[in-house]
Amino acid sequence: MGQETVFIGFGSNMGDRQDFCDRAIALMNLLPASQLTGVSSYYETEPIDPTSELGSTWFYNGVVRIETKLTPRKLLEICQETERSLGRDPEHRKGPRTMDLDILFYGQEKIDQPGLTIPHPRLHLRRFVLVPLAELAPEWNHPTFNQSVKDLLDSLDDPGQVRKSDILPGSSYGARPTCTPS
Ligand code: AMP
Repeated sequence: MGQETVFIGFGSNMGDRQDFCDRAIALMNLLPASQLTGVSSYYETEPIDPTSELGSTWFYNGVVRIETKLTPRKLLEICQETERSLGRDPEHRKGPRTMDLDILFYGQEKIDQPGLTIPHPRLHLRRFVLVPLAELAPEWNHPTFNQSVKDLLDSLDDPGQVRKSDILPGSSYGARPTCTPS
């Protein structure tokens, strides 16, 4: 199987959010048959609906880019294991979460299988996804809409606030950023 460029979104709105994001990135760096090739800044973002089960705590969000030979399904399994290992409560999936991982793009593939939809069906509606994605890959094409990430962001109507954080990814364990956006 060939290698594909994959983007994974991460988010935490419970506990030590910075530490959970740092740990998720460290685990993404250990994926088999893969290389982590980009990490966005962290963004502090407003929950979509503060009155919902999600709670009112702001998220830390970001996106990583990975070159991988893993299949989409294997990648999903590993993302779900990673969520569990970081304390995600499977009984309350809609509530506040220590870690949420979403596969945003898998190359230019369009996948619609039970439990797995790629591109992620809501990525184009969410500022907290498109802003960090645009930092890493503004020209990346969304294969369903045939529009770049930058164009999707420019035409987005999402009032959710997204503030770039000064915190460097990985800094809670003394790491330097693994790479810079291209
Ligand atoms: P969430 O509660 O947001 O973590 O949603 C997780 C559910 O979304 C799981 O049941 C996954 O099987 C499903 N899912 C569908 N497409 C994706 C995707 N592209 N990335 C991550 N989870 C997905």
